[in-house]
Amino acid sequence: MTDRIYSKKMTEIMAQFIKHTAIHLPDDVMSKLGELYEAEDNPRALQIYDVMLENLRLAEEMERPICQDTGFMQFLIKCGSEFPLLGDLEEVLKEALAEATEETPLRLNVVETFSEENTGTNMGPGAPTVWWEIMPGRDNCEIYVYPAGGGSSMPGASAVLTPSQGYEGAEAFVLERVLEKGPNACPPLLVGVGLGNSSETAALNAKRALLMSVDSVNEDEGAALMEKRLEKALNESGIGPQGLGGKNTVYGVNVVDTARHPACMGVAVATGCWVHRRGHICFDRDLNWKSDTHKDFNY
Ligand code: SF4
Repeated sequence: MTDRIYSKKMTEIMAQFIKHTAIHLPDDVMSKLGELYEAEDNPRALQIYDVMLENLRLAEEMERPICQDTGFMQFLIKCGSEFPLLGDLEEVLKEALAEATEETPLRLNVVETFSEENTGTNMGPGAPTVWWEIMPGRDNCEIYVYPAGGGSSMPGASAVLTPSQGYEGAEAFVLERVLEKGPNACPPLLVGVGLGNSSETAALNAKRALLMSVDSVNEDEGAALMEKRLEKALNESGIGPQGLGGKNTVYGVNVVDTARHPACMGVAVATGCWVHRRGHICFDRDLNWKSDTHKDFNY
């Protein structure tokens, strides 16, 4: 295959995958939604879950996006240094986004920051967001697709705490933020918590946490305990689905942490709404692909 044919093939697969993630929730979110529905006994919350499930059924049947806010596209790329299309990837993703925007269709959600003019293409300076991780010596490529909705991004925040505030301070920061802003972000939410050396490392860790499965558990005992405590506290808040009361408020809480300076601790929170449309697709060097978030994706 020539480079041109290679990149065209990858563009087509990615365009279809972006479209698919706008229409179908990931498998783990679907089954978590079912679990929350089964566990619920509040009649109003049950009614809301019924509407959500009907919404998902209709989106699938009509091949239309699950929500009118189809998000601002963010990609996290983990690419091997030997992957043949390494240098072309950003262009591939932009072309794929352009195709998906037209075909799905996706709402035009990108505006210039100061003029507030809509770019009309779902692209602009720094849009889509692309975060890179290069994996030396490997020849495969993983791409996370995350259309960040406006409402679901609103609770996001980061701060740097003093050591005396400790992990309790980090939990209090997350709780305060989610309890204040979460009801407007269309719960049940997936809450991503990032810990790191500074506000920006913590913020990126919080986004990484959102891209993990809703049931993932941090391997570190302390971090796993923080996930459990936050999940319990948020569920006990009674905010419930769509903020109208109910047994559960979150799909889960994921913590991602990286090492830090002993004198400070960055903490950040990022949230995904009930329409938590994250997608994950892995390519080998011949562009054979597999998705662990959407096993029904077929192209
Ligand atoms: S928060 Fe989520 S479900 Fe609510 S409008 Fe935004 S994208 Fe849609």
